[in-house]
Amino acid sequence: MTSRLQLAFPWSPASQVRGRSAARRAPSKAPRIAPSAVRIPDPRLTELPLQFAATGPQIFVHEGARQALERRFELRARRAVQLAVTDNRQRIITRTVERGRVRVRVHMMFLDAPEHVQEALVGYVLLEDRDASRVVDKFIASNRHRIRASRPVRGPLNTRGDVHDLLETLGRLNARYLGGSVDDVLITWGRRTRTRGQPRRTIKLGSYSTSERLIRIHPVLDRQWVPRYFMSYVVYHELLHHVLPPTTQGGRSVVHSPEFLRREREYRYYERAIEWERSHLSRLLRA
Ligand SMILES: [Zn+2]
Repeated sequence: MTSRLQLAFPWSPASQVRGRSAARRAPSKAPRIAPSAVRIPDPRLTELPLQFAATGPQIFVHEGARQALERRFELRARRAVQLAVTDNRQRIITRTVERGRVRVRVHMMFLDAPEHVQEALVGYVLLEDRDASRVVDKFIASNRHRIRASRPVRGPLNTRGDVHDLLETLGRLNARYLGGSVDDVLITWGRRTRTRGQPRRTIKLGSYSTSERLIRIHPVLDRQWVPRYFMSYVVYHELLHHVLPPTTQGGRSVVHSPEFLRREREYRYYERAIEWERSHLSRLLRA
């Protein structure tokens, strides 16, 4: 007999009870790769004659950490459990029971999860406990950045503009507003587009691609007359999209949640930036 529990991401067992309490908290972001799971360097970038399987992400899992978590499962299940640790994008947690054997596969983010989260994980996987599922749900939501990007970035990244350096800006914002916790977002100046003498009708000053984990900033902001605090504000806004994934409310996806807007206002020159944008919009459209 085979029973199967499979949680795909994005998933949300607690979504029906989602209310105000589910408003996403300011995450203290953990690095993507758990200290107990180390990514093997890309063999194409190393000169060592290493042999790797041709496909799939490569992670080293700290065997002690894996065994400790496996032991938690076994204590609760009162029988042998086989635990594997993955870097899956889609299946974050799976459980299969085959001929009495319990096999559990979990994303590496759980290896260094706090104790109460690991306990909830065990309760959820073994007993399908609802309260436990909420704890697990919340943990995955706040560790979403640790699930690897689904699409590699195409083309070179250009971070050094003529006037503004995006990498330097990103580093500054990360240190000041996010405690230096973001280590997995990319940034680039977007491609220059011609206006052919006609002013644009709209302009997208920044964008964030979840699948590439990439922030693109419009090159129109790389001008002498664009103050640094404004360009930084656009970067900060996109950085928040990386940190705060959309929430759902009444089945709709909310990109700029109340939490997002609150965090955005933490930007030191927020008012000034909004005012500058208002008074320079037409110039930006013509630039
Ligand atoms: Zn936005």
